[in-house]
Amino acid sequence: MGYLSRLNNVYVIDTNMLGFPNYNSAYLVVGDEIALIDTGEPDQFEAVSKGIKAHGFSLSDINYIFVTHCEHLDHAGNVAPILKQSPNAKVYINPIGDSYLTNPSGTNWGERFSAGALARRAGSKGMESVSPARIHHLKDGDVFDLGKGEKLRIIFAPGHQPSGIVIFEEKNQGLFINDLVGLCLADANVHYPLNPFGSDNIEAVKSLEKLLELPMACLYLGHYGIRQEPKEIMLRALGNLQKLLDIGRKWVSRGNPENIPDAVVEMITPELEKLRVGRGEKLYQYVAYEHVPFQAKLFARYCQERLK
Ligand SMILES: [Zn+2]
Repeated sequence: MGYLSRLNNVYVIDTNMLGFPNYNSAYLVVGDEIALIDTGEPDQFEAVSKGIKAHGFSLSDINYIFVTHCEHLDHAGNVAPILKQSPNAKVYINPIGDSYLTNPSGTNWGERFSAGALARRAGSKGMESVSPARIHHLKDGDVFDLGKGEKLRIIFAPGHQPSGIVIFEEKNQGLFINDLVGLCLADANVHYPLNPFGSDNIEAVKSLEKLLELPMACLYLGHYGIRQEPKEIMLRALGNLQKLLDIGRKWVSRGNPENIPDAVVEMITPELEKLRVGRGEKLYQYVAYEHVPFQAKLFARYCQERLK
């Protein structure tokens, strides 16, 4: 099965992250009420807004905004500007992500994102703070009935980030998987693990193993799009996480954790070559020379702390 930009009442919004098409997604789920899942990065508010309009909806139609993980600008970044134009919308998050929305300037984004990408970019707007009055705290297992037979069930799923949630969408039996499966580009057959600051691969394995029990027909990917082989993708993601942890354990136990970053880059390189063919030189240059090497170093640090 190939890439879909819409599945019945679920619409993909291309957030144009860093100016790259089909790289980061938000989603609209439409019943009698409308839910927006994730919001794109602050510098791409126009792209997100246009994407919503292109599907025939407007910001003022939105009733619910769910943020799959508050720690990341490319998912939480436009909550405030969207709320300004969505008077009825309420924002729902895992409570432990609260301060990333209410006090984003207190967050060390430079540390959290790969050098040069989101935080350091010249002219970047940065994230606007969200009024606490618009924020509602989720509990694991909460269900939202959107009408027209559509219900969204919240499942707390840490691993990619501590405030991570996934959302099971009943009508199409789809799972908004957050970034738990890593980077999996629906249209380019590229799949590799992500290792941002604060991610915990041991927790991610536990979350994915639990989620595999759901009766899923499709995955709504954070990066990017809809795929209809949910279990295959989640099992491959689990395999990737195990390979990373094996690399970490091997070099930590031998006392040479400095070898971890190169081993991680070597593991991911075949996928990067596929990305180069499928998506072109510009995205490849960013990912291969900035994003992946930076995250490989963060993973080495994680291993030294957690795999001793
Ligand atoms: Zn993320």
